[in-house]
Amino acid sequence: MDPITTAFIDEPVIFRTLEQATTDAAAVREVLAKARQLNGSRPPTWRCWMNVSDPDLLGELFAAAQHVKDTIYGRRLVLFAPLYVSNMCANECTYCAFRARNRAVVRRALSQAEVAEEVRILIDQGHKRTLLVAGESYPHEGFSYVLQCVDTIYGVTHGNGEIRRVNVNVARSPTTSSARWANARSAPTSSSRRRITGRPTRRSISAGRSATTSGA
Ligand code: SF4
Repeated sequence: MDPITTAFIDEPVIFRTLEQATTDAAAVREVLAKARQLNGSRPPTWRCWMNVSDPDLLGELFAAAQHVKDTIYGRRLVLFAPLYVSNMCANECTYCAFRARNRAVVRRALSQAEVAEEVRILIDQGHKRTLLVAGESYPHEGFSYVLQCVDTIYGVTHGNGEIRRVNVNVARSPTTSSARWANARSAPTSSSRRRITGRPTRRSISAGRSATTSGA
């Protein structure tokens, strides 16, 4: 696997979803009612809240989001230490130094021994939670590299300490689906919010222009 040129984000699906965004208030309210039942959501429903601009409807959207957040997580704020394990990426977000065409950066993925050493440092600093961050390409092991890193992090005990929760910042794709996490030693919490936009959108965000929703 070429760690720099392998891209797996399905941008046509993203743009199709954006193009089909509805402005129908009844459809939005139906989706919000389902969201309040805490059963998760799937891409076809996302188009229902991507184009909301009516202030009242926006208020209902924010209230539903607050309900989901408070019910699942309660009124608490959780801090975690970022742990960057790799800067290999096939994407071109101009705001990010990891972008593929940035030749000034030496590409590197930590070995599992190095990941373990970083974890010991975090534990020494008193951390209990970490956010594993990597670019959107992986070394020759492919996505298994991320799973190995999660195993390594959970496997480190140091002094009286350990990392009790690993959040993982990776894009959703067939290769990173929950099925892959099923065999991991401990399923981490997935944090993939910033990886949902396509390349033109990300480029324009970084350049301070309006985000385009046309195809790549
Ligand atoms: S923001 Fe993420 S996807 Fe974009 S270039 Fe950086 S690591 Fe890659």
